[in-house]
Amino acid sequence: MANSSSDVMAKLQALRDSFAAQLPDKIQEIEAVGETLCGGKCSETEEDEALKLIHYLSHKLTGSGATFGFGAVSDAARTLETFVNGMLDHATRPTTAQRAQIRGYLEGLQQAAGKHDHKDGANAGQESAIPMPRVPENNGEHRLIYLVDDDPLLAQDLALQLGNFNYTTRIFHSLAEFRKAVRQAMPAALIMDMGLPDGNGANAIMEIQEGRAAPLPVVFLSGRGDMEARLAGVRAGGAGYFTKPVDIGAMVDALDALTAQKAPAPYRILIVDDTPSLARYFALTLRGAGMITEVVTDPMDIMRALVEFAPELILLDMYMPGCNGLELAMVIRQQEAYVGIPIVFLSAETDLNKQLEAMRQGGDDFLVKPIQPDHLISAVANRARRYHILRSFMTRDSLTGLYNHTTTKELLNNAAGLAQRRNTPLAFAMIDIDHFKSVNDTYGHATGDRVIKSLSRLLQQRLRKTDIIGRYGGEEFAVALIDADATRAASIMNEIRVSFEQIRHRVDGREFNVTFSCGMAVFPPNGNAAEFNEAADKALYEAKRSGRNKVVVADSTMLSGN
Ligand code: GH3
Ligand code: MG
Ligand code: MG
Repeated sequence: MANSSSDVMAKLQALRDSFAAQLPDKIQEIEAVGETLCGGKCSETEEDEALKLIHYLSHKLTGSGATFGFGAVSDAARTLETFVNGMLDHATRPTTAQRAQIRGYLEGLQQAAGKHDHKDGANAGQESAIPMPRVPENNGEHRLIYLVDDDPLLAQDLALQLGNFNYTTRIFHSLAEFRKAVRQAMPAALIMDMGLPDGNGANAIMEIQEGRAAPLPVVFLSGRGDMEARLAGVRAGGAGYFTKPVDIGAMVDALDALTAQKAPAPYRILIVDDTPSLARYFALTLRGAGMITEVVTDPMDIMRALVEFAPELILLDMYMPGCNGLELAMVIRQQEAYVGIPIVFLSAETDLNKQLEAMRQGGDDFLVKPIQPDHLISAVANRARRYHILRSFMTRDSLTGLYNHTTTKELLNNAAGLAQRRNTPLAFAMIDIDHFKSVNDTYGHATGDRVIKSLSRLLQQRLRKTDIIGRYGGEEFAVALIDADATRAASIMNEIRVSFEQIRHRVDGREFNVTFSCGMAVFPPNGNAAEFNEAADKALYEAKRSGRNKVVVADSTMLSGN
């Protein structure tokens, strides 16, 4: 594999090592400014400048220290930063007591750096890893993010983490560089550090937004979390505000929301009309509005269409040979799965009594032919939308938005049936997070939930839109890869496994990584969905038994009967 975990671990280690190597210089730099300030020979302007520089340097250290696992350094830098910030606010010359206090804080910073020397260097490699941007298999093309941060290590670290979620990051260390790039090409979204050496990030954004018709999606990044700084971010049109160290899960959530295509969901509309030309006309009209349509001209074919097309609304003609619209509506409604599906009658019938009768039989609306295309579109889209939302409450898991257990099972059954009829491959994977109980026990249930969400997000981003992704149970997921043979499916799941392993989860300044195990069965060779499921389950058990954090493909001994 091009991107093995050890390779990645080594890269992170290198990043941390270079931060550690630079740390003495960084502290020396602050000390030097402190010396000047505390020497007492400065003019008022020089003092003011020195204070600002100390503030700036300690502010940077607060963010980068925490990011690279140098918590004590970050804390000491924050104490200094906060103190100097208070002095700057009052704009009076530093008193002897204040100078002494700054000296004390500088000493604290030195000590914190010394304390960290060995500990962090030693365990950094196991704590985390850096994801590499990789060409996705699937649906999502890499989205380009501009990251403006003058701290090169911190920026690189964030870029590598974002790579796991299909974001390609271009880093700028100064506003000047960034301004030049923005004139050439716009990114999908922008992450902007608040304080940069050549200016204030919020102000720069304000300028850029002014000249634009649609605002550039931007989130701010800062070592500060106070109201004033946050407000500045909001005023500059920031959609999000993140303090360092960055919670990568929350950052990806924000970027996902900002870069999501806003196209309406393509509702699935089944049109039942015995006049082919009319049916085609309705279909074309609705398709023109972005909906997906299927036409049935023989009402006796409706059962197949209900199962295979899974419509979100049925447009039904009233009078058809063989079986009329009213009877058809009753047949549909008498099946539990379709009790709630909107049925809209479309007929030349103008008799109000007949129309009311149709509604009583389970119709939701009655449209009279001929109908204006606009009217048809809005009547259908509004009802389909409501049903779509309603149904998502019933079929989706509330934490992850993935299909819930029941729906996943149903969809897997359908997919297995379809693969069998068409004789196409289908891979079915069961995923279970490793030692998840200990994640909960160590970091709390809420953190556990976030880990579950991060895996769900990864699956959604890495798999195709046509694949089925469900949350099967607490920390268990089921995935069906449509049209994927064993080799391809195993390599996709393996890539996802490596990416997941590389995500650094953060809570209260602590970092940890989580892994999952995956069992997979590939169809054919074996028949029904239940056997398939069982084979994947056995493979998952084998993955757990043989050490976890791996993908095992079921062999013939795991198929039922063996
Ligand atoms: P293994 O590697 O063998 O899978 O070990 P494990 O600890 O992951 O497995 P186990 O089945 O013993 O524990 C699963 C844990 O997942 C127990 C349960 O509390 C937790 N869990 C289940 N659903 C949720 C959830 O929605 N949120 C959180 N935070 N935890 C959950
Ligand atoms: Mg489990
Ligand atoms: Mg588990």
